[in-house]
Amino acid sequence: MRTAAPTAHTLPTRFLSPADVAELVGQKGLPVCLSEMAHAIEQDFLRWPDFDKTARVAAHSDVGVIELMPIADAHQYAFKYVNGHPGNGQHHLPTVMAFGVLADVATGTPLLVSELTLTTALRTAATSALAARTLARPGSRTMALIGNGAQSEFQALAFQHLVGITQLRVFDVDAAASAKLVRNLANTGLHITVCHSTAHAVQGADIVTTVTADKTNATILTADLLAPGMHINAVGGDCPGKTELHADVLTAARVFVEYEPQTRVEGDLQQMPADFCVTELWRVLSGQATGRQSEADITVFDSVGFALEDYSALRYLARVAEQLDLGTQLPLIPALANPRDLFALVKPTPLAAPTAPAGINTPELV
Ligand code: NAD
Repeated sequence: MRTAAPTAHTLPTRFLSPADVAELVGQKGLPVCLSEMAHAIEQDFLRWPDFDKTARVAAHSDVGVIELMPIADAHQYAFKYVNGHPGNGQHHLPTVMAFGVLADVATGTPLLVSELTLTTALRTAATSALAARTLARPGSRTMALIGNGAQSEFQALAFQHLVGITQLRVFDVDAAASAKLVRNLANTGLHITVCHSTAHAVQGADIVTTVTADKTNATILTADLLAPGMHINAVGGDCPGKTELHADVLTAARVFVEYEPQTRVEGDLQQMPADFCVTELWRVLSGQATGRQSEADITVFDSVGFALEDYSALRYLARVAEQLDLGTQLPLIPALANPRDLFALVKPTPLAAPTAPAGINTPELV
């Protein structure tokens, strides 16, 4: 494959590869990254009305979905490309893959192109922990973690460092996934119990995180498994026809969402009637709505992932990458001597006068 070889000077767009983001996380420390990203997301949720918001645009197929997630305020524009293919394991590919762009609203110049596969796991965990810090019972220490795939360790660590979880009760239909989680989280100080079912995992849990991947209306959590005061962090039901909670769980709970028009279509909420009452998280964060009202309330954060979280994450990456001097310059947009002379990029260079092929008599010039 040919590497990009610009024929003109190019504008300075920073590119962050997965290795660059991993280096950034390594230099800052994962708990610090999760905490700073949660803070960035919270600050942006607190200025919710500043954003031009839209539900994401999805292209569905039998095996998965590909989505575009745009958002902008007066200064910066962001979008994420992301897929969700629960069967990708058979192709040795991740279920979720993503990249994104941050651009300058004043001129439209792309400022950053970044990997967002790793970053999606970070921002999703940070958002989940932010919601739980707001909605779960204070003093929550035990979390059931159902689904131990790519997102799971990030969820566990965000809840450890931002919420105070010390005990994890994990379950996955694939025992190898739980074993991988246990290996990855060794030496983190988390006390981990591997369970034989969801019912076993939720015993004694203050918080239940569901982060499974299956393109079906699954019932990972049923109402008989709920206990008074539980907080449910439902992450894996994020697409039409792909849910994790039985409808009775939602009926029994107070339900909180990111951006209601999107969650009505994509979240576990898709099972409920259009007038089923939910509260957007930003309203609780800003003090305009109450979260948990009693110790016994069951709260659900019906997470689907909203573009604002990626905007916050991209801005965070741009700021820290600049501080740490990470990434490379991507020759993406030409810097033209005359911006209206785009043709200069492809204009043929003048050739030397052609010489006559051997054997052909050229007429004398008169
Ligand atoms: P993954 O494929 O790496 O892991 C999913 C795990 O769930 C697998 O280990 C699988 O064995 C397990 N699983 C499937 N069905 C199960 C069941 N019935 N009981 C227990 N375990 C089960 O996927 P991932 O990257 O970890 O993503 C998990 C889910 O989270 C996906 O559905 C994805 O779309 C979603 N997601 C949501 C957000 C958000 O913002 N809400 C962000 C990222 C990913």
